[in-house]
Amino acid sequence: MGVIARYREHLPITERTPLVDLNEGSTPLVESRNLGPALGLKRLLFKYEGLNPTGSFKDRGMVVAVAKAVEEGAKVLVCASTGNTSASAAAYAARMRMRAIVVIPAGQIALNKLSQALLYGAKVVQIKGNFDAALQTVRELADRYPVALVNSVNPYRIEGQKTAAFEIVDALGDAPDYLVLPVGNAGNITAYWKGFREYHELGRCRILPRMVGAQAEGAAPIVLGHVVEDPRTVATAIKIGNPASWEGATSARDESGGLIEAVSDTEILQAQIALASGEGLFAEPASVAPLALLTRLVRDGRIERDSTTVIVLTGSGLKDPDAALANVEPPVELDGDARTLAKILKL
Ligand SMILES: *Cc1c(COP(=O)(O)O)cnc(C)c1O
Repeated sequence: MGVIARYREHLPITERTPLVDLNEGSTPLVESRNLGPALGLKRLLFKYEGLNPTGSFKDRGMVVAVAKAVEEGAKVLVCASTGNTSASAAAYAARMRMRAIVVIPAGQIALNKLSQALLYGAKVVQIKGNFDAALQTVRELADRYPVALVNSVNPYRIEGQKTAAFEIVDALGDAPDYLVLPVGNAGNITAYWKGFREYHELGRCRILPRMVGAQAEGAAPIVLGHVVEDPRTVATAIKIGNPASWEGATSARDESGGLIEAVSDTEILQAQIALASGEGLFAEPASVAPLALLTRLVRDGRIERDSTTVIVLTGSGLKDPDAALANVEPPVELDGDARTLAKILKL
């Protein structure tokens, strides 16, 4: 069952909305076994969004955006992307036999995300410039031509993405004390906050979480309070200098009593290895920025150790293994038999 069928009554679905799905959502909420206890946290859980059909949380919002686009008679989907949005749009377009056009910043997309979009059959257009320029281009295209824009400026994306907050509450029986996630274009933090508030109003959860957002130091417009013209970070999914949902992010932060801070690329890559080798969970660089930030907050005594914290692992590590590989030992080479191997391994 996908998110439309599962959360239909909380979504803008009518009798005319087609039931699109790739069985997205219902991702595992994995209890930390090692990292949480090592930090001294009572309860740390990971919402493993990398297990969505195209490997990132983008599928939750895309399925609703595509269903509504079909309902409204659209034949062509268009989006700008740092990678995962294009993979997701292309997959759902293929599912519904629609055309997808994705505009990406040339040379700045992880190869595996690009290969997804190409294999799903999207028309991929590379432009000079960064994500913000790509988004500007597709917004203009959608203003003038009959194409459905499926970036997170499309409100149906936010609607679909809020279902992750529902799933967390449904699994825990309440909201966590802290929800920690990466912030790029800021649609997801906006969506989670909307989801928690809606469930709270319905009495499904007693508390509301503090929303904690992680940006990358070289791409931290919300932390700095101004647009970053030339964003830089190894975490390409959050390499955004002018977030479309800026206000949604600051509202989520301020209304929840949370915070948004930046972490360095070094901290991000360390957190990626810590998560993979410490929990058996492989997430892409943007997805581990929250773990880097949480580590700092716990060490500084800014998060109570008896609290319940959920980290959103937004995308699979298989999306972008290159960044990770630079920081681990290469495989050992064996020229010999088992005895030589035992010697190499110091058994
Ligand atoms: C899109 C994306 C983000 C950023 O989400 P926003 O809604 O743009 O803030 C973070 N991580 C991954 C893996 C993503 O694909």
